[in-house]
Amino acid sequence: MGHGLGPPARMRIDRASAVLDLNGCLAETSYKALLPIIRRSASLFTGIAVTVDLSQAQHIEVSALDQLQLSTKSVRTPNGAAVVVSYTVPVRLLSCPVAGSYPVLAGRAS
Ligand SMILES: [Zn+2]
Repeated sequence: MGHGLGPPARMRIDRASAVLDLNGCLAETSYKALLPIIRRSASLFTGIAVTVDLSQAQHIEVSALDQLQLSTKSVRTPNGAAVVVSYTVPVRLLSCPVAGSYPVLAGRAS
């Protein structure tokens, strides 16, 4: 998997809740792709609670998570009701294994 978010690995949806499981990279360059999915989920049933589960994410940029949370504060159902979007995040935000796999300039020859 590259340094991207990709579609949710799994979506668990019933009349009361929608849980989006993500296992890609949540980055400033990728978080906006989630917004239409969250809005679509919020429009399924009146009063639905949406949870973005990032506990299996490959990598989370704190700034992207902040912006995502800010963006989803204004999510509304089609009839204008506010939608609560909550987040499940790992205790430690891991650095990106993909970005970290690039060659590192070390042990420069003298
Ligand atoms: Zn990444």
